[in-house]
Amino acid sequence: MSTLPDRARAARLGRMARVRNRMDELGMDALLLSHGADLPWLTGYRAMPLERLTMLVLRSAGDPVLVVPALEAPRVAGADELFTLLPWTDDQDPIELVASILTGTGAAGTGGAALRCAISDRAWATTVLALQRRLPAARWAEASTVTSPIRAVKDDAELAALRMAGSAADRVAAELQGGGIGLIGRKESEVSGQIAGLLIEEGHQQVNFAIVGSGPNAASPHHEPAGRVIGRGETVVCDFGGSYSLDGDVGYCSDITRTVVTGSPSTEIDECYQVLFAAQQAAVLSARAGVRAEHVDHVAREIIHDAGFGHLFVHRTGHGIGIEEHEDPYVVSGNEEPLQPGHAFSVEPGIYWPDRFGMRLEDIVVIGDDGGPEALNSADHRLVVVDV
Ligand code: ZN
Ligand code: ZN
Ligand code: ZN
Repeated sequence: MSTLPDRARAARLGRMARVRNRMDELGMDALLLSHGADLPWLTGYRAMPLERLTMLVLRSAGDPVLVVPALEAPRVAGADELFTLLPWTDDQDPIELVASILTGTGAAGTGGAALRCAISDRAWATTVLALQRRLPAARWAEASTVTSPIRAVKDDAELAALRMAGSAADRVAAELQGGGIGLIGRKESEVSGQIAGLLIEEGHQQVNFAIVGSGPNAASPHHEPAGRVIGRGETVVCDFGGSYSLDGDVGYCSDITRTVVTGSPSTEIDECYQVLFAAQQAAVLSARAGVRAEHVDHVAREIIHDAGFGHLFVHRTGHGIGIEEHEDPYVVSGNEEPLQPGHAFSVEPGIYWPDRFGMRLEDIVVIGDDGGPEALNSADHRLVVVDV
């Protein structure tokens, strides 16, 4: 019997039903999930990045089958109720197994004629090419055409995990802002390691990243923390996140940025930060159901542009977040998709003066059932002085 908690099982069955509906809408005969986040989202099982094939075969009709290397089968939980497990041994050809499940539907001949298949965006090319050779008449699409719009709208179990992740990240940010993490005279990499440890202490199972960029390094948005020693009067951009899992489900991500300053900020840094603060707050408030995702980007960008810093805001305003740190919906110019209840994404404008200093302010925001924004992060949004 499965040991899956009721809530996690109900959530997965709900996701499976929504996936089948969308496959029907798109006229898709099969969804083939290998590496990437779609498989754990649907089944709770994350394939190791092995060369051996793992693939969930979900036909429009019939039970889903998880084809898995026999030696990995003991790690698969929850099979009884959600899918049938089909372990394969090293003397078998897993591509042949997948093909026989697909063509066994009667919808296709041995060449896979007229079969429409959606396959993981992150599947190995070797897998995709072998299947295409085995089923030359089948037509192929990315799995994300089926899954992405569904994954973008979080269900209750996912929102609960995102909220837990957000408050755990908040507690680490509060520790940083309260002076609990020494900065002055320490290497960025040491501070990054301490933040990573705190993310785990606060309940994350996994650390995904802990960016610490000080002084001129703060002007590089994805700076790799290294040996630079943090000085006085500098901005320090700390952007970190991990994965938090609830009820035995797979982990959902946190992602927060707070910029602190080591000692009194210069007038220039202070004025810059006021603009950033205003842009981030206005963008969060503009995020409402029915509004295009790109509108949120425009709101932040306009405020920064009007202050004369437009050329220093060098990236999009945000990204969706869930099992993956970056997923749909993207808060970027050109994304005309309307926001809807259940969408979860970052709002993270930044201002970067090359070779001098930089700053970014980031919260995760969810569109609530009332259509308004719910910020999952509430750590102090002001420019906090950390004099340690
Ligand atoms: Zn980023
Ligand atoms: Zn971030
Ligand atoms: Zn982010």
